[in-house]
Amino acid sequence: MKELNFDVVVVGGGPAGSSAARIAAKNGCTVALIEKEKEIAETVRTSGVTWISDIEEFGIPNECYNPIKKFSFCSPKNSVTISDNIAKAAVLDVRKTYRFLAKRAQLSGSEVFTSTNVSEILKNSSGECIGVIAKSQDIEIKFKARVVIDASGFASIVARELGYVDQWKKFGAGAEFEVKTEKLEYDNWWLMVGQEYSPAGYAWIFPTSKNTARIGVGIGKPDSDVDPTIRLNELIDNKIGPIKDLGEIEKIEFHYGLIPNEGLARKTVYDNLILVGDSAGQANPLVLEGIRYAIRFGEVAGKVAAAAIKNNDTSEKSLMPYEKEWRHSIESKINSAVKVQNRWVGLTDKEWDKELNIINELTADEFLDFIRADFGVSKMLKLATHHPKMNVRQLFNMVKGT
Ligand SMILES: Cc1cc2nc3c(=O)[nH]c(=O)nc-3n(C[C@H](O)[C@H](O)[C@H](O)COP(=O)(O)OP(=O)(O)OC[C@H]3O[C@@H](n4cnc5c(N)ncnc54)[C@H](O)[C@@H]3O)c2cc1C
Repeated sequence: MKELNFDVVVVGGGPAGSSAARIAAKNGCTVALIEKEKEIAETVRTSGVTWISDIEEFGIPNECYNPIKKFSFCSPKNSVTISDNIAKAAVLDVRKTYRFLAKRAQLSGSEVFTSTNVSEILKNSSGECIGVIAKSQDIEIKFKARVVIDASGFASIVARELGYVDQWKKFGAGAEFEVKTEKLEYDNWWLMVGQEYSPAGYAWIFPTSKNTARIGVGIGKPDSDVDPTIRLNELIDNKIGPIKDLGEIEKIEFHYGLIPNEGLARKTVYDNLILVGDSAGQANPLVLEGIRYAIRFGEVAGKVAAAAIKNNDTSEKSLMPYEKEWRHSIESKINSAVKVQNRWVGLTDKEWDKELNIINELTADEFLDFIRADFGVSKMLKLATHHPKMNVRQLFNMVKGT
């Protein structure tokens, strides 16, 4: 068996892994970034909605996304559109973006191993993780590491093999077609709610260019046993709701993925090991978006791993600043978002029709903060106390937990 030694071994070439690898390498570490697929983002498992302020902060180039400035919602008997003057949301070209992030990690000095599937974990006599074993074109490679970063997404392959975590039990399952459309308002996204669209979740139309969009359905598991792929085909074939306004639809590519939905329940540092991105469950439960957290906390993981290696102490205690930093940044916001998610999951079709009237009272910025789960304490207090509409005040009081 071939043996390679690195300071940091990152498992998974998604946004979390590439970001962790880049920052660890920038901080002087030797880094292996291991991806099981033939190419980075060979399979797309995400809709790619994110926010332009984050995109700019991460240095992702303009050609990687389609800007969005209108946010439409529809329920069985209601529909609202909130419009902004400038685009603050975006739908990513997922392949371009993920490949850009991985290339940047490589340019910072990380060695990228594609077609390399991690299947076993190397442990010392105390059972601590000291690397991984992966198979690449029938060759087994031992990747020894001082710190392993588990950025393997939903699979959490390293933490699971070590017995630290179980398979996620509560998660979203999403099916989506990238389609060519005859007609499209390409700066307007649709979220579609109610039983017909999804019995526990929502359906969407996210434009990716002037004449292409992603149409998808997300369904909460184990809340509903409806298959999102079957429901998606029914919605497209029967041209339900705003899908009928797209005219002729040509399916180009199918995407399918799973995303954890258990809040921030997981411990994310162990001796010599950090979990990041979906592997750590870092997702906004309102729209199950995790890309920006994966990138941001991937960077924190890379930074903390490099500092621990420099200090010659990669114990759990030494890696704990990673967990402290990401929890400090999002924990209270995610806890508020979980309350909204619980409210939304329980709504009947009629209640959704009314909920849209409340959403319609929000300004574009208020709506964006809401959907982004950007529930800063002072903003929330202001909305709960001073918003001119009583139903909005009630919504924000509920989010605050009063
Ligand atoms: C249907 C759906 C729609 C979504 N829509 C959005 C959205 O609109 N906006 C948003 O922000 N988020 C969205 N998400 C969530 C988003 O995709 C994730 O939060 C994000 O991709 C997490 O990044 P990651 O790097 O942690 O994991 P991933 O992107 O899943 O990357 C993990 C990588 O690890 C690799 N890997 C796994 N096992 C191994 C192994 N054994 N050996 C080597 N490599 C391995 C995988 O091949 C993969 O490349 C969606 C998710 C789903 C399922």
